[in-house]
Amino acid sequence: MRIFIQMIGDLEEDLIFALEEGLSESFNARISILAPIPPDISCFNPLRNQFNSTCLLRKLKPVRVTLGIIDRDIYADKMNFVFGEAELNGCRAIVSIYRLRSINSRVTEERLIKEAVHEIGHVLGLKHCRNHCVMRFSNSVREVDMKPVEFCAECKKLLGF
Ligand SMILES: [Zn+2]
Ligand SMILES: [Zn+2]
Repeated sequence: MRIFIQMIGDLEEDLIFALEEGLSESFNARISILAPIPPDISCFNPLRNQFNSTCLLRKLKPVRVTLGIIDRDIYADKMNFVFGEAELNGCRAIVSIYRLRSINSRVTEERLIKEAVHEIGHVLGLKHCRNHCVMRFSNSVREVDMKPVEFCAECKKLLGF
């Protein structure tokens, strides 16, 4: 499997390298880091001071699996914010680092990897899972910190891992 990391705007190199390593371990994937693109201003909602995640997702190349990473706050329909969004059984996913940051850079990296693995799980067809599993839905960083970076046995089976 192949994963393309598409930075949207500026991000620290260290974070991207940690993500690359985490994803290659989780999916046994070949990772390519694409040249960064600016966030599309047509996806920005000035009333909310947030980018619409669905809009940003649709700007990514429809190549399986393309993962956009952005350092701006993002939202989806009917949500105050989202950590990420993905096309279920599709090609593309996006994760925002904005609300995942900790003063401890290792914690920030772990959260980013978990949310990226989660969104790619959706791209590969997985839905939310109630087990001790990376596919658990997280609504806060506390919930992100509590879930493991791994898929549970049931999700692994669905993925054919
Ligand atoms: Zn999810
Ligand atoms: Zn699971």
